[in-house]
Amino acid sequence: MNRADNYESSSFLDKDKRDKVLTYLKKMGASLSGVGDVSVGLAKEFRHMPRAISIGIHHPLSKHDCACGQLYSPFYAAIDRQLLKIQNLLVRWLRSGGWKALAIPPDSNRYDNSYISRLYPLFPHKTAATCAGLGWVGKSGLLISKKYGPYVSWASVLTDAPLETCSEPILSSQCGDCRRCVEACPAGAIKDMYWVRGDSYQTMIDPKKCAEQLKMNFKKFGSPTCGLCILACPRGEARDSLV
Ligand code: SF4
Ligand code: SF4
Repeated sequence: MNRADNYESSSFLDKDKRDKVLTYLKKMGASLSGVGDVSVGLAKEFRHMPRAISIGIHHPLSKHDCACGQLYSPFYAAIDRQLLKIQNLLVRWLRSGGWKALAIPPDSNRYDNSYISRLYPLFPHKTAATCAGLGWVGKSGLLISKKYGPYVSWASVLTDAPLETCSEPILSSQCGDCRRCVEACPAGAIKDMYWVRGDSYQTMIDPKKCAEQLKMNFKKFGSPTCGLCILACPRGEARDSLV
């Protein structure tokens, strides 16, 4: 019986090891973490690693950070550095146990020219987080966590370690009747779609319209940022600090 066959057997899966991993991630500063089964629909490049460990760090936003209605968090770079550090330690730990492990870094590293950056379209962080039961894809196309809403930066680690999953995956949007991000978007880029697992995230937003808005903001404010869809979202405890 090989490792892939073993995944069929629940007795093969290790809850203690999973809990040890999650405790370690919390100690290292992760606000959210979970293990999901990502074998369904995984691109062929990753099928030998059917578990994803999703790691999120919450952004402590405040009114001041959101001046001019534009989202600006001075914490993005620091949080992404912390995520990179945590996931690299986790990869090292998994490999030292004889398991395969691949770090998919935070989104800010998406645009460099590295090999891993070319794999991003094949494995979005949203897949790991929804499979781990940590959140859903909102109408804004952003990952919405139950606890922190959209105010989280994410990283993922794929592995073949036999970790038991944390909870049931989230299979569809929990936005309900809310349309706040749709109404807040000055570009009309949010299509008001209700996400269901398997849908392409790209179809929920018109990226050209969003990009045009960012260009306009760059001319107006000197920064190609927006984030009004984030600010509009009522989900998550972080919202309390903004109202
Ligand atoms: S970042 Fe701004 S323009 Fe882009 S989708 Fe969100 S609200 Fe719309
Ligand atoms: S603002 Fe409302 S519709 Fe948009 S992502 Fe948040 S909860 Fe969903």
